[in-house]
Amino acid sequence: MVRAENVHKRFGFVEVLKGIDIEVRAGEVMVVIGPSGSGKSTFLRCINHLEKINAGRLWVDGELVGYQQRGDKLHELRDRDVCRKRAEIGMVFQRFNLFPHKTALENVTEAPVQVRRQSRRAATERARALLDQVGLADKASNYPSQLSGGQQQRVAIARALAMDPKLMLFDEPTSALDPELVGEVLQVMRDLAAAGMTMVVVTHEIGFAREVGDQLVFMDEGVVVESGAPRDVLANPQHERTKAFLSKVL
Ligand code: ADP
Ligand code: MG
Repeated sequence: MVRAENVHKRFGFVEVLKGIDIEVRAGEVMVVIGPSGSGKSTFLRCINHLEKINAGRLWVDGELVGYQQRGDKLHELRDRDVCRKRAEIGMVFQRFNLFPHKTALENVTEAPVQVRRQSRRAATERARALLDQVGLADKASNYPSQLSGGQQQRVAIARALAMDPKLMLFDEPTSALDPELVGEVLQVMRDLAAAGMTMVVVTHEIGFAREVGDQLVFMDEGVVVESGAPRDVLANPQHERTKAFLSKVL
């Protein structure tokens, strides 16, 4: 579902990704950990066509991200095509970014109606089912300000799912939450993984990584230092940098 080969990303003269190689199969959960500034968010943004890579190759579901290959030449996709591809990938951020003046239900129906041109009726029916799936059937008419952080994040997940994404990216989805609200969001993500969604999750929740992750990737300074089965990496890290990081978060 996702394949990165020697992906490089620079901002000006600063190289933030220095040759990332990863592969996520359909239905797998990859958990990415690493210190602040190591390039985790940038890498997610490259997968989601929000950043252009400077070198290497990146595919989502067999298609090059941002480019089309004709013969042996790469052609940049038009903005419209980039947007269309981006709509196939769900993204959940640390800050929930809900529309404050729309109810939970309206937040979930917005993109299917505006972008996918679904009928309001069909979109509403589906949104109610999704709110039910994330445990918020009774909050459909609440505004974000009337919801806890954990509830807002679950609305954000429902909103992403409303576009029927083939891949879900999570960028520290529980980092902005009060500790007692983290569990309810992780539970929704656990259910999603169990239902077969392909997911790339940047998180510091090591328990989630161990329990739900198929692969754990440790990034530092723009490279993948170490990756493997979560239990192996956590119990028996091979690199000093991984050991030092884990000793701080475990
Ligand atoms: P992480 O998510 O692991 O904390 P980021 O991907 O956010 O790391 O950032 C990696 C590095 O890239 C940081 O040094 C950050 O300052 C830099 N960076 C991120 N986005 C930009 C940008 N748009 N312009 C310039 N530098 C950026
Ligand atoms: Mg980040």
